[in-house]
Amino acid sequence: MSEPGWFEEGARVAVLTAEPIGRPLDYRAPEGGCYNGAFVEVPLGPRKVLGVVWGPGEGGFDAAKLRAVNRVFDVPPMRDELRVFLERMAEYTMTPLPQVLRLATRAPGLGDPPGMRTIYRLGDREPSRMTDARARVLEVLEEHGGAGFYLSELAHLAGVTTQVVKGLVKTGALIEAEVPRDQPFPRLDPARPGKALSEAQTAAAEALRAGSGAYSTTLLKGVTGSGKTEVYLEAVAECLRKERQALVLLPEIALSSEFLSRVEARFGARPGEWHSGVTQSERRRLWKACGAGEVQLVVGARSALFLPFRDLGLIVVDEEHDSSYKQEEGVLYNARDMAVLRASGCSAQVVLASATPSLETWANAEAGKYQRLDLRARFGTAELPEMGTIDMRDEAIESAHWIGPTLVKEVLARVAEGQQAMLFLNRRGYAPVTICRACGHQIGCDHCDARMVEHRFLKRLVCHQCGETKPIPVKCPSCEVEGKLAPVGPGVERLAEEVAERFPEARLAVLSSDLFGSARALKEKIAEIAQGEADIIIGTQIVAKGHNFPRLTLVGVIDADLGLQGSDLRAAEKTFQLMRQVAGRAGRAEEKGAALLQTYQPEHPVIRAILGGDEEAFWAQEAAARQAQGVPPYGRMAGIILSGPDLQPLFEVGNHLARNDAALRRIGAQVFGPAPAPIARVRGRHRVRLLVKAEKSAPLQGALKAWLKGLKLPTNARLAVDIDPQSFL
Ligand code: ADP
Ligand code: ZN
Repeated sequence: MSEPGWFEEGARVAVLTAEPIGRPLDYRAPEGGCYNGAFVEVPLGPRKVLGVVWGPGEGGFDAAKLRAVNRVFDVPPMRDELRVFLERMAEYTMTPLPQVLRLATRAPGLGDPPGMRTIYRLGDREPSRMTDARARVLEVLEEHGGAGFYLSELAHLAGVTTQVVKGLVKTGALIEAEVPRDQPFPRLDPARPGKALSEAQTAAAEALRAGSGAYSTTLLKGVTGSGKTEVYLEAVAECLRKERQALVLLPEIALSSEFLSRVEARFGARPGEWHSGVTQSERRRLWKACGAGEVQLVVGARSALFLPFRDLGLIVVDEEHDSSYKQEEGVLYNARDMAVLRASGCSAQVVLASATPSLETWANAEAGKYQRLDLRARFGTAELPEMGTIDMRDEAIESAHWIGPTLVKEVLARVAEGQQAMLFLNRRGYAPVTICRACGHQIGCDHCDARMVEHRFLKRLVCHQCGETKPIPVKCPSCEVEGKLAPVGPGVERLAEEVAERFPEARLAVLSSDLFGSARALKEKIAEIAQGEADIIIGTQIVAKGHNFPRLTLVGVIDADLGLQGSDLRAAEKTFQLMRQVAGRAGRAEEKGAALLQTYQPEHPVIRAILGGDEEAFWAQEAAARQAQGVPPYGRMAGIILSGPDLQPLFEVGNHLARNDAALRRIGAQVFGPAPAPIARVRGRHRVRLLVKAEKSAPLQGALKAWLKGLKLPTNARLAVDIDPQSFL
């Protein structure tokens, strides 16, 4: 290397690809040399694959036989910061590096030249014959300079048909040229004034501004409607003033056009968007603009964390407690934690915003690792909803009905006032269970140990684990008796029937992700509801997330006990967050809101904590309980999931691991299991899990590595390690 980070032609370089090889392979640097971190195409067997130059080659392989890098893509090399982040993340999550690299190279057609479009410019000849129409075209071009126009644009501006433009090309008065399709991102202007902030908002914004320019993590905790978004947009403004790039992660980004409009209102232009709803060519455009430093702000889903920013100065994780930040398939990682990891390597500020933070974040703030800022009141005149329980033991309720008389009365009162009421039930479909009244058989999925859920709207039974569907049978598949299959329990579709029966005059909207063909359709529905085109809204948890329904003044929770049943260690925390979040939907404008929870156990500590104003007491109590059990965030956990076509061999491997746990005992860790996973079969694969528990300071990954080293897996079996598991399915 003649200069650091540069490889001369022919030098031995290591290239990491996203192929399952496990480590970088050696190649020769191509003609013209290449930078460390360069995105390249290399031959791999008979194929050509994308790779990244990952330092100097290892040697040890006959130099004469080394193959050369095919070509270097015309994009900036991956920066050391991102390379180191990917390596650390691979180590932390115990994922092979190539799989982690794949997260950072999800821009299809990187090597392709950007798509081209034809534009029209002035030529150097006069047309042989001039007409009015032709003259207008030439005028438009003379007036608006040399950049040229697309055909339809030009014809439109000149008020002529496209034929006229084409005719001018034939005479040589105009020329057609090919230009790259990728347009630059519009500039965001941080100098534009933001909204006038309240005193509390100003103090929080000041504190964030003071922390800009260096690594730090701040919990921005504020009740829904307190203006967290306004406050963190000030941190974005400060980051842009420093000419660094900012990233805002949102759950359910595909639904949040509201946020994009707010950015536009604040900075005068829209940010770059990165999520599953964005087209491939838009992805490539954004990916490249990130690397070139040509996009200032990106709003995205968790995978936006792997974009090749040139100078990332701020990461905001909005609704940081949201479970969608944990990726549960492929690479198992929590984007919130990885955001902190990435930021620490590039002197970026992290803002974790939430009304109901995760206990992990709460504890980090308690311990002084994170800074904490509180917004205690809603902005303006909006007040927090009043919360209460409805004791279902006292409600006279008919069978197969779920809305008690008290809640019915409350809903009627709101609808009569022209306000909206929301009924919350976190269960998609019509009924969670279909049972045979003749033999008691419950219809299950053929591929999973899960019951099929009736979706009457789709006229099918659906497995919520694997997505498998089948028609609703007439005969019981077990006893073959006809006409005895009956739905048990409510889903949102069944609740809709009850609402139609009890409130025949009311306009009803059902918000459940599976009832809409696309994110766009769902988004439109949400906008309609916000404008008041429904009286009663039935929703699953998609309604809990950040939508603003100004006329909504009552939230009724159909079954507040639903989340409390599981054995999940986070059951209390999750219920608390969800109930609070849902209740926060009510009364966001002038009218005061109320939230009523139907429950059979109103004295349950979690229900009482949800109602009581003393949130800190709830967190402190939850923290003490977890501390006593030595579980996260006061201890560490890892899940080991073995999956495969046959159960027996999985248990054998599991037992072998449990017996040979010396590497774990060395760090004081314990192993539990093997046990069938709570959903013991998914998509036809059996699942067995072990759980490892260790003290907070124990070097868990190292011990796991030693423990799992050299393990022989049965044919077609897989082992996945889930560090800091969130769900225990
Ligand atoms: P949060 O993110 O905490 O739920 P938002 O930032 O969405 O709160 O604010 C709630 C509502 O109040 C939004 O409609 C927002 O525009 C408005 N709002 C908040 N702060 C201000 C302010 N300082 N001036 C004007 N409107 C504000
Ligand atoms: Zn299934």
